Amino acid sequence: MSPNQCSFCGRKKEEVEILVSGNNGYICNHCIEQAYNMLAGPTKNNINPSDYNIENLKKPREIKEFLDQYVIGQEQAKKQLSIAVYNHYKRLMHVENTDREVELEKSNILMVGETGTGKTLLAKTIAKELNVPFCIVDATILTEAGYVGEDVESILSRLLMVADYDVERAERGIVFIDEIDKIARKSDNPSITRDVSGEGVQQGLLKLLEGSIVNVPPQGGRKHPDQKYIQVNTQNILFIAGGAFDGIKEIIERRLNKQAIGFSSEKINKTDEEEYILEKINAIDLRSFGLIPELLGRFPIITYLDKLTKEAMIRIMKEPKNSIVNQFTQLFKMDNVKLEFTDHAVEAIVEATMEKGLGARGLRGTTEKVLEDYMYDIDQHSEIVLTREKIANQLQ
Ligand code: ADP
Repeated sequence: MSPNQCSFCGRKKEEVEILVSGNNGYICNHCIEQAYNMLAGPTKNNINPSDYNIENLKKPREIKEFLDQYVIGQEQAKKQLSIAVYNHYKRLMHVENTDREVELEKSNILMVGETGTGKTLLAKTIAKELNVPFCIVDATILTEAGYVGEDVESILSRLLMVADYDVERAERGIVFIDEIDKIARKSDNPSITRDVSGEGVQQGLLKLLEGSIVNVPPQGGRKHPDQKYIQVNTQNILFIAGGAFDGIKEIIERRLNKQAIGFSSEKINKTDEEEYILEKINAIDLRSFGLIPELLGRFPIITYLDKLTKEAMIRIMKEPKNSIVNQFTQLFKMDNVKLEFTDHAVEAIVEATMEKGLGARGLRGTTEKVLEDYMYDIDQHSEIVLTREKIANQLQ
């Protein structure tokens, strides 16, 4: 093992604060901490389902009001997510109840929407509200067991890590699986080549999603025989998946137009409906896209996020609690600089960002660029009024 990297996680010396050397290897501060947490055992979690009470559970409308503070627009997604989370809590209470007759099934959620429209933000915000462990995993790193890439179980390794290896707490966490569209089946005929990073992964995910006891390698990555596993029950873990599903609109449109054959007057008019087409999304479309029916069956809630309009982007700049305008104003205030974004300046930043096609994700980058020189040569105790002209100059 190289003297320059951790023998456990492989991080390089320059990526860690401390690298302790032993007889035959090295360990970094991250791995020491993790190992300590495993030895220390579960810490007492702060929420316990037996403490829940239907009276003091936040109702869907209140959950949505919380989301409104952070996520602009996306009304339908926020509403569906709020209901799903409320029901999830009711379910947890129900599971605690030993003489129950009806099994309440889990409602995992699948969100479809272009990049930078707020899918991750929604999932992250809801986890914050619920105070449960939350992790994001990228579906593209996963491959079918036995191939280069990560096993699906590594998803749960991450959840365990953020829960400080408190298994009980992790078992009530939320996992956001990003880029789920990238594991769509690659070809219509599965027998041509083995689809190890597509359908194979979808099959692998099933057992996690449906609720079962899974052997999780504590460090993630590949499972190997001499590793100790931690058993995690996924029954109460809420899975939220998101993806851009490029081309899905055409699939929806084709289905709608097909349905409309024979009723030519009702035929969908492409230009009129383009904006609203995502509203009509259902499991059939996602199946045509390449998700297998078994997987779709485990995502009973399918919701969508709208493409962000210019107005929405302007609101995103200004309105959320930790909006970009608020963040930068605060940053300059620490130097006693009064930074002011005029409405025209905000509009100019939004316009420049929209050209990049990164959704709201690009707003921060554009603002950083605009303020670069002001931050470099910060002039304490001054006042900066950003105008459209100043922004045009900075972005040249
Ligand atoms: P994706 O849909 O690709 O998961 P993200 O949720 O990661 O997009 O969005 C990237 C960033 O853009 C967020 O961190 C947030 O700052 C901003 N953003 C995107 N959509 C919204 C929204 N609807 N309301 C507020 N901020 C948003």
